[in-house]
Amino acid sequence: MNEVRKIVHLSFPPDSSGKPVVCNIIKLFDLCFNIIKAQINPREVGEMVLEINGLEPAVNDGLAYLREHGLTITPVAQTVRKDEDSCVHCGVCTALCRPRALEIDRATWKVRFDSEKCVACGLCVKVCPVKAMETQLENGYL
Ligand code: SF4
Ligand code: SF4
Repeated sequence: MNEVRKIVHLSFPPDSSGKPVVCNIIKLFDLCFNIIKAQINPREVGEMVLEINGLEPAVNDGLAYLREHGLTITPVAQTVRKDEDSCVHCGVCTALCRPRALEIDRATWKVRFDSEKCVACGLCVKVCPVKAMETQLENGYL
């Protein structure tokens, strides 16, 4: 089964703000999440940008659970970029990149990034020791 990573914008109705519905998806669906941005005040409309990681059916079930609790979910488009000045061409990311967007150029022994092949899974972002791979969110969320 596929591990997926989704970034979503959540809008909380006033009666859900302050309730632990997001925390519940960890124990109910065995998901990991990372809060990228949040503005939550009890009894007011709240907003959050959340990165969710887990098996694809579990991620979908977790999002359905949030919807059932009145949250509005909007997917956030994401792209990944490589900071050529920071990359030290260690090659760690190339072992994880399934679509081969990151590959070692055998002529120069440098790691090349082909953004056309990248599916923005974010694996390289997690492992790069110098943080040369970065996620960029679209829709104006960051
Ligand atoms: S893991 Fe980071 S530093 Fe190493 S080759 Fe990939 S982008 Fe460059
Ligand atoms: S985000 Fe995924 S597909 Fe894109 S370069 Fe990184 S590992 Fe490859």
